[in-house]
Amino acid sequence: MPPLFETHPAHHTALGALPISRALPTRGRRLIGPWCFLDRYGPLSFTDEKPMDVAPHPHIGLQTVSWLVEGEVVHHDSLGCEAVARPGGVNVMTAGRGIAHSEETPRGNVGRLSGVQLWAALPRAHRDVAPSFDPVERVPREEPRGGIVQTFMSGGYADIIGIDAEVHRGETLTMSARAEREHGVMILGGDAEFDGHPLERDAIHYLGTGRSELAFRSSGGARLLLIGGEPFPDPIVMWWNFVAGTPEEIAAAREDWEQHRRFGEVRAYDGPRIPAPPLHPAS
Ligand code: MN
Repeated sequence: MPPLFETHPAHHTALGALPISRALPTRGRRLIGPWCFLDRYGPLSFTDEKPMDVAPHPHIGLQTVSWLVEGEVVHHDSLGCEAVARPGGVNVMTAGRGIAHSEETPRGNVGRLSGVQLWAALPRAHRDVAPSFDPVERVPREEPRGGIVQTFMSGGYADIIGIDAEVHRGETLTMSARAEREHGVMILGGDAEFDGHPLERDAIHYLGTGRSELAFRSSGGARLLLIGGEPFPDPIVMWWNFVAGTPEEIAAAREDWEQHRRFGEVRAYDGPRIPAPPLHPAS
């Protein structure tokens, strides 16, 4: 059976004032390996305003991964960590049993913003690990024939891979892949085709498992986000900013956030935190 190739359009939403393309989860595809959430924002230019301003909010059961193509995002969390994410580096936050954080455009900025925010579900055995924050200033970068490959996520609690791949104009970039992994690809800029399929903008393409090589061709040059991992073994429940095994764990985390338990406070953020939405919204 040939490997799959599926196209799932992203849907448009907003994070405060910031327009977002949400590529995961979609109706047809909830997970790619452990990756369970993918927001694409920008590219955009701004002057005085602060395009990203996400007040303190909690997470459990996942890792957040902030990868930038242009611009800066400053992270503060309830462990007291502060870090500015910039292109070429990555911020990885392991929520485990619970953490709160804020993400904002810092005052000193280049006036441009383009990036992705991803979540990776933690496998059941590691869902309750202690929270931690791991900024990496410079991720591994290679320049094989045809492009540039930056690997911002690999290894970890579950099998996982996250790559930013540039394909030079008129070239083909070929990467080896593990056949046990499923992969997905999203265009960040430019044009590219895969296996004779032109890749669509504003969509996640699911490439399935069973591929030992991934080759992307571009006529005018492209920037691609490639994510993957072995198919995630554990059933998960996702609600708001939480990943858990059962609805009861979700309800308990929501209650703890509302009661100022478990997560701590993000003291470095100037402003109120985000209240949890109702568990069962009135329809
Ligand atoms: Mn968050």
